[in-house]
Amino acid sequence: MPQLSRRAFASALPLGLLGGALISGAPALAAAQNTAKTPANITPLAQIRIGRFTVTALTDGYADMPFGYFPGRAPAEVEQAAVAQFTARPSGVRFLFNQYLIDDGERLILIDAGAAGSIGQTGKLPQALGALGLQPDQIDAVIVTHMHQDHMGGLIAGGRNNYPKAELYIDRRDVIHWTDPAKRSGAPDYLQTSFKMAEDVVRFYPKLQAIDGEREIVRGVSIVDLAGHTPGHIGVRVEDDGKSLIMVSDMIFPVVHPGATDVFFLFEQDRAAAKAMRDRFFPRAASEGALIAATHMAFPGLGRVVADRGQMRWEVADWALQD
Ligand SMILES: [Zn+2]
Repeated sequence: MPQLSRRAFASALPLGLLGGALISGAPALAAAQNTAKTPANITPLAQIRIGRFTVTALTDGYADMPFGYFPGRAPAEVEQAAVAQFTARPSGVRFLFNQYLIDDGERLILIDAGAAGSIGQTGKLPQALGALGLQPDQIDAVIVTHMHQDHMGGLIAGGRNNYPKAELYIDRRDVIHWTDPAKRSGAPDYLQTSFKMAEDVVRFYPKLQAIDGEREIVRGVSIVDLAGHTPGHIGVRVEDDGKSLIMVSDMIFPVVHPGATDVFFLFEQDRAAAKAMRDRFFPRAASEGALIAATHMAFPGLGRVVADRGQMRWEVADWALQD
């Protein structure tokens, strides 16, 4: 059994504490030693293989959502739950903004584009792609799971299309909803940014393909209808060689899900629809043991819904050592 010297152990420790997950160990270690006082500069990446696909979890950053942003529960109840899970922050529940890059060896497909600075400490996706040696114009397709600002903000940069070569896929029900002036004028203030962005996205992406129902985008990558959080909220299933991953976007929020389905996030306008979808999805995910990627869960957002003595809970999945 290899012996790890005391010194090697000590120098390896900061890397583990940082939670940095760069693909190549040596540069990551050097970076950890050189920038021990500024660990936030290390861009986290996590890669898993699903058959012939490589899926890389990236993150645009994070924001803390006030405990009062979860209709269905009193702020104090949400705070108490966060405290019990050791995840309470002074300013609320920490949401990550994770994106997933699918590489099938021929094409690069990005799921979601991040908030791009429109919420909290976000805008890191370009840096994360850069850490992989990628520029936005190398992305062949972007699938946007729904037209909330934290999922499509990064599509536009400096008043321009930020993924100029990419096909863009969004569910038609969301495109219709978020570009409807009547829906916009009746919506609360906190949704106005999303309406404005939706208008820009449609204008700047002539190659936008509105999706109708469940379909395959490329072989092994297909759209799953998870409508509820928004009218056209979708997931993406990646499947090959008996393995699969389903990116479920905003089906699951930290602290409150999947333990209950009668608790919501403020941005959800149709709560009955959101609840109905979670009532269907969580038990199905638990019985299938589906490997899930979720936008707002702690990085890299990979886990499973587990039914534990009748109570649903989130079980973080091992992603680093999957052999
Ligand atoms: Zn979201």
